[in-house]
Amino acid sequence: MKAEIVAVGTELLLGQTVDTNSAYMAQQLTTIGVDVYFKSTVGDNLERITATLRSALSRADFVLTTGGIGPTLDDLTREAVAEVTGRPLVFDQRLCDQIADFFTRVGRPMGENNRKQAFIPEGAIPIENPVGTAPGFIVEIGPRAIASVPGVPHEMRHFMEHAVLPYLRQKMGIREIIVSRVLKLFGIGESLVDEKLADLIAAGQNPTIGLLAHTQIGEVHVRLTAKAEHAADAQALNAALERRVRERLEAFIFGADEETYEGVLTRLLHDGGLTLAVAETGFGSSIIQTLKGLAGSDRFLKLGVTLTAPAMGAALPGIPAGALGDTTILGEAAARALAQGVRQFAGADLGLALTGQAAREKAQDHVVQIALAHSAGVESLEQRWPHAMRFVENRTTKLALAQVRKYVLDRT
Ligand code: AMP
Ligand code: MG
Repeated sequence: MKAEIVAVGTELLLGQTVDTNSAYMAQQLTTIGVDVYFKSTVGDNLERITATLRSALSRADFVLTTGGIGPTLDDLTREAVAEVTGRPLVFDQRLCDQIADFFTRVGRPMGENNRKQAFIPEGAIPIENPVGTAPGFIVEIGPRAIASVPGVPHEMRHFMEHAVLPYLRQKMGIREIIVSRVLKLFGIGESLVDEKLADLIAAGQNPTIGLLAHTQIGEVHVRLTAKAEHAADAQALNAALERRVRERLEAFIFGADEETYEGVLTRLLHDGGLTLAVAETGFGSSIIQTLKGLAGSDRFLKLGVTLTAPAMGAALPGIPAGALGDTTILGEAAARALAQGVRQFAGADLGLALTGQAAREKAQDHVVQIALAHSAGVESLEQRWPHAMRFVENRTTKLALAQVRKYVLDRT
């Protein structure tokens, strides 16, 4: 089956919003064996959406649109689909009731323009939207079909999982279920992972192994994908392969599937009944921001200090006079003093300090000093990265959190 994706929205055309939906949709379609041959982006303009849909329909068996089915005047996808399929928009009372229910649930009044969303092309298969207001729809035209889903990313994902993919699987007579398991690694590069798993990757038919490097967060994800008629069988296939992957890479695997590095660390700290205090300078306040955003972080994060001027470090209670030198807190000794100082001041089990200097010009390196103070002393680590390294803040944060994770794991 040949598919084509049409992303609708002027904000996408202008580059104000990055079209992440099309990438996600293409990935999902590919997992069930649908070939994506074209992707287009079109603004909120009826004539141009219609023309785009016409040419998409002339090439593809299945056209998938995202965006433009909201309640506002500039949402025109529904009208364009009606136009190209020759199916006038008709009112669907059930959809209208569902929209009304949604508003009741969230305690907001339903506007008159939300009624517009209960209109779908005549004969279309409606897709309910339990996660938002815009219902979607699938219009079949002979052997072809157009499906329209919302632009809001989490709604779009819900529609893909619960309506579009099941529809296509049924249409293509796919009975097999596909189950993926993602192992998440930190502290190792993609090429080394590739090397360590080369034979398994080459041999992989069912399950298959795919690697994805997430440079921005410094992680490598190993995706195992199995097919079987029942989910449990596919899971068992993945589990067997996962054991083999773990034999080779266990030290780098910090979590799986929806888990995040910070989330895993939070759990470790909770389970260990440990509290943490953080002081950082030189690279912004990324550690504190990252931890603060986590559910339940108030239970372990006792204090977070960002020093905007190095000299301020000396003003922190708990830091012995002279420990930081007079003007700089960029060195290893300063990181250690800060870690101990913030730990003591907050009365926390662990004190984490990050100091250093982001490279400002090509000839310089980013220099990072990380120190972790605990009941038995203090450990420190220096890391240098070349100026060209991107996402330095994310990396330093992750590296600092990795020191905490390592300490907690070694302790148990
Ligand atoms: P819409 O359904 O067109 O009203 O879109 C609702 C919101 O979802 C927009 O304001 C965008 O922020 C976001 N959005 C729409 N289309 C996309 C897309 N293709 N990729 C990522 N975000 C999108
Ligand atoms: Mg829009």
